[in-house]
Amino acid sequence: MLTCDFAERLAVASVAAEQAQFDAVLVTPGPDLRYLIGYDAVPLERLTCLVIRPGGTPVLVAPALERAAAEASPAGALGIDIATWGETDDPYALVASIANASRRVAVDDHMWAAKVLGLRDAMPGVDQVTAGRVVNEMRMRKSPHEVQALQAAADAIDRVHAAVPGLLCRGRSEQEIGRDIAELIVSEGHVRADFIIVASGPNGASPHHEVSGRRLQVGDAIVVDIGGTTDQGYCSDETRTYALGDPGDEYRAAYAALQASQAAATKAVRPGVPCETIDDAARTSLVDAGLGEYFIHRTGHGIGLQTHEEPYIVAGNVRPLEPGMAFSIEPGFYVPGRFGARIEDIVVCGPDGAQVLNARPRDLVMVEP
Ligand code: ZN
Ligand code: ZN
Ligand code: ZN
Repeated sequence: MLTCDFAERLAVASVAAEQAQFDAVLVTPGPDLRYLIGYDAVPLERLTCLVIRPGGTPVLVAPALERAAAEASPAGALGIDIATWGETDDPYALVASIANASRRVAVDDHMWAAKVLGLRDAMPGVDQVTAGRVVNEMRMRKSPHEVQALQAAADAIDRVHAAVPGLLCRGRSEQEIGRDIAELIVSEGHVRADFIIVASGPNGASPHHEVSGRRLQVGDAIVVDIGGTTDQGYCSDETRTYALGDPGDEYRAAYAALQASQAAATKAVRPGVPCETIDDAARTSLVDAGLGEYFIHRTGHGIGLQTHEEPYIVAGNVRPLEPGMAFSIEPGFYVPGRFGARIEDIVVCGPDGAQVLNARPRDLVMVEP
């Protein structure tokens, strides 16, 4: 991201705060702070808080010992004011004096409860609301730079999936495979691994199984859902399903239906289509194949500086898709005690349809045992 990206975001946030009648928007370290000013501060007990006031210059309140780090971040080039506090000062009083609020402040959705309550005490009589309706609205629509960053993350996780078949063999445990995947996630272009799901055989029936000591057996289907964060802060998230040897006719038929479901949902993406219609496209296809009762989660989630963010691709979400919205399409089936499967890609809503960021083949990958 460039300095001009952050300057524009601050300007948009300030206008949105004015429209929402917020006296100030208060943002502590986390994805919203990184989005708005590029400062990837670690959330700690000492208060760091960006104060955005409609019509005013944003002020970053930070501990004195963090000034150098803040100035070294993209925030330092933005020309915002940095107000520091010493170890014995009251940072909450400092934020209150800068916010100068009389009616209502918005606090970021991820703020620690201790900070929310500290700010409440420092601004008695001022209502607190969450800033999500300002910041989430902005983060949901990705700029071309953000789409590039998500594409780089998708390319990196594609490279990891390309190596997964070589890690699967009879007798290896999910934990052993998971450790190898963790190393690959970092070596292929992420700064950290965020989650690693290696769900073999009956473990595949639990969508958020992580890894266990279970050892691969011939005939297992293996759901591998992995993701990490790149140096730009953007996340990857991709699922492919593998099999060690032949998982059987019944499984292969169900998998073919899942592939059709994932393709139908991807094909349904275009501007103006409600999020729930994408979920419906995936679901109808599995219901028709007799697998509806085994598809037990929503079809997808938005992705960006967080793995899960708005928009959610779920029944009841009537929000229309807009160009730049980035989200997962990840239908699955989960048959308790037996097996599971999932196929997941990250897509961006383009002017005429989905731009699919992940490029690994979606067929069931059968590995020689
Ligand atoms: Zn999930
Ligand atoms: Zn995933
Ligand atoms: Zn996902």
